[in-house]
Amino acid sequence: MAMTEPTGVWERYQRVRAAVDAAAERAGRRPEDVTLLPVSKTKPVELVRELHAHGVTTFGENKVQEALGKHEQTTDLPDLRWAVIGHLQTNKARDVARFAAEFQALDSVKVARALEKRLQAEGRSLDVHLQVNSSGEESKFGLPPEEVPALAHELTAFDSLRVVGLMTLAAPGPDTAVVRACFERVRELQRRLLDDDRAAGSYTQLSMGMSGDFELAIECGSTCVRVGTAIFGERPPQNDYQHYWPER
Ligand SMILES: *Cc1c(COP(=O)(O)O)cnc(C)c1O
Repeated sequence: MAMTEPTGVWERYQRVRAAVDAAAERAGRRPEDVTLLPVSKTKPVELVRELHAHGVTTFGENKVQEALGKHEQTTDLPDLRWAVIGHLQTNKARDVARFAAEFQALDSVKVARALEKRLQAEGRSLDVHLQVNSSGEESKFGLPPEEVPALAHELTAFDSLRVVGLMTLAAPGPDTAVVRACFERVRELQRRLLDDDRAAGSYTQLSMGMSGDFELAIECGSTCVRVGTAIFGERPPQNDYQHYWPER
């Protein structure tokens, strides 16, 4: 979707929401079954406030430091929730345990262990998605699909982590067949986990789709689309994609 006109953030949000609803309907799905998660990374907290004033309460950030900073600037909005959607280093687990409502990028027992310990100390629990590397070698983060069931089994030991589903970033680029294959791989994995009695938690949620591919993701069963650019406008170049894709 091309959305380059300098319109306000609420108008852009509404346009994306309408596109999400239309994609769901085309796929024979209910629009209310697809969450739109605005991703505010690199953008000023004023834009978060503007959307919050219209009733939007959950925002995605891929870096813990930035999310925490924005959280601290918005403590006057008690219903504001932060979803951390990017890779976590164990030394940041304490921060996530303190303020995040969701963590969508769990991809190791090591991080699970660090989070569990900190969550216990805070007396909190956290909704988590397991991040799947659905695109092969290109991405630095997420587990290959075949390794996800083993992690799901190990997570039964972590009471403070509520596994709600899977998250993925499809391969970047314009080839829809390649993107679709990524989403289908995750959906297939979801089916396996739903049937797997040894897997911790539930796997009803599929966080898939960003500005460039959310309509396709919804067609492939996404229940949460993470949209930055189409709502907040372009980000400075080389900010985030390098984080995931070593070279393009
Ligand atoms: C930045 C980011 C998004 C949003 O990307 P856009 O292409 O700007 O919509 C989604 N998911 C993750 C994990 C991100 O880091």
